[in-house]
Amino acid sequence: MQPKILIIEDETDINHLLAEILAAEGCQTLSAFSGTEALLLLDRESPDLILLDLMLPGLSGEILLGIMREERHLSIPVLILSAKGALHDKVSLLKTGADDYITKPFEPEEVAARVHAALRRSGSAPKQPDFLSYQNIKLYPESRKVTVCGTEIFLTVHEYALLLLFLQAPDKVYSRESLYELVWQNGYYGENNTVNVHVSNLRKKLRDADNSGQEYIRTVYGIGFRLR
Ligand code: CA
Repeated sequence: MQPKILIIEDETDINHLLAEILAAEGCQTLSAFSGTEALLLLDRESPDLILLDLMLPGLSGEILLGIMREERHLSIPVLILSAKGALHDKVSLLKTGADDYITKPFEPEEVAARVHAALRRSGSAPKQPDFLSYQNIKLYPESRKVTVCGTEIFLTVHEYALLLLFLQAPDKVYSRESLYELVWQNGYYGENNTVNVHVSNLRKKLRDADNSGQEYIRTVYGIGFRLR
């Protein structure tokens, strides 16, 4: 399910920019350009979160927030948009029921992060599976646990990082150089054999743990490695 976000912002450019940012994050968006329009939209739509600009023509953001919370009894997260320095009364906004603030000008990443965090807190974020898997391999990012055929295997930090990359894109061919950059994160790969050694060790651990004799991590000759 795509979370649905209502953007209440009278400045057209900013409203559209927010819609683009959120669409890129997999959200569905609705735009309102005034408080009245927002209330009309809320009669027929039920968004999962609201982005609310404070400086609106007609009904101000503060008044609108009060109406949404007290008259409409909306319990979804409301994130306040406001120019930097214009938030004089954060406490009273919090009391009225704002969940978080985004100050303008904003960075797209910040908007995305705050929206996701608020959706998570309210329980309407799209559910991520709590592990990555490929055939008999399962990797649990939160606990950094890896199992093969249900049995836990123990990987070094670098082997774990390599496996995580492979599981995130089983069909992707990673060059030795790109694996080196992504996992070791220190510049020039040069002639060294580090990636080959760690990939072979990882491959052996996976093979040994897999009771079907399944072979993981293919060498793509002259290019690099992929999982599938
Ligand atoms: Ca405004």
